[in-house]
Amino acid sequence: MATAIYPGSFDPVTFGHLDIIRRASKIFDRLIVAVLFNPSKRCTFTPQERMEMIGRVTGDLPNVEAATSEKLLVDFAEERQSFVIVKGLRAVSDFEHEFQMALTNKKMNGRIETLFLTTNYRYLYLSSSIVREIGSLGGDISDFVPAPILEDVTRKLRENTGRAEK
Ligand code: ADP
Repeated sequence: MATAIYPGSFDPVTFGHLDIIRRASKIFDRLIVAVLFNPSKRCTFTPQERMEMIGRVTGDLPNVEAATSEKLLVDFAEERQSFVIVKGLRAVSDFEHEFQMALTNKKMNGRIETLFLTTNYRYLYLSSSIVREIGSLGGDISDFVPAPILEDVTRKLRENTGRAEK
């Protein structure tokens, strides 16, 4: 059975992530969407919240599982005995960092293979950070995050900047 891991921060999961998840779930028998700890990012949503939201938006995809771990990706891959990593590539700006990560993971564990899916052109511009920015300033994020999590994401982003309705 071919299993792949799609790792990221997913703070929060967006239509761009969901597009990669849907496409990867058709290629692999099983896809683990893994919310991993990234020491260089300060996240708005807790790992538990992020994992739960991924579960909610992938409810119609039976071969997709949401997980969270504080381990290194290579150790998580070993734990799950799954050595294919899926990543999404938006623009050249993603490439340098992703290339470095892929080579580093390969160096740490030779069994790891990283596969890149190019973004759907519709989501080329979309990132979790732009969603957080717009949402925390009171903007409408319904074009960016899936409906099942829209209310919760909107509320938390507004609360964070004191914009919640009383
Ligand atoms: P972000 O950069 O939005 O904070 P993450 O760290 O959660 O995203 O990214 C996890 C993976 O998803 C990365 O491989 C990233 O390139 C990919 N990704 C994020 N947004 C998109 C998008 N709009 N289209 C395609 N891939 C994306």
